[in-house]
Amino acid sequence: MAPTLVWIDDPENNGWTCSSCSWKYPVPTFLSNPEARKAYDRLAASNFREHVCELPVTHQDIEDTSTAPTFTKRVMKLVKVGYKPKDAVQIALDDVALEHRNDPKVMAQARAEAQDFLQRVRQGRI
Ligand SMILES: [Zn+2]
Repeated sequence: MAPTLVWIDDPENNGWTCSSCSWKYPVPTFLSNPEARKAYDRLAASNFREHVCELPVTHQDIEDTSTAPTFTKRVMKLVKVGYKPKDAVQIALDDVALEHRNDPKVMAQARAEAQDFLQRVRQGRI
């Protein structure tokens, strides 16, 4: 889904934000006249177009703070020591399957991450 500019309609926390990442353009408190407000909206829109979505709003961020290596980190480590991405993914999947005794929930998550990882490799993002 392409990110869109979203208005936060909260009197305490007004501003423009991105629908798919943590980018935010808060409304300055001194903004009272309509002309200034229009200028602010234009600035927000141009800043929004220039920003690059980096922090997707997903539970991934929470998992990253844990000490357990995420599947993607595991794969990246293997790639760094010279494995091809496809082989690294397979090795990591085997490792996870062993460690978690093929727990279907864990395996489903790992496979989803594996697919996501390979897709990013294809798109040249890794
Ligand atoms: Zn964004």
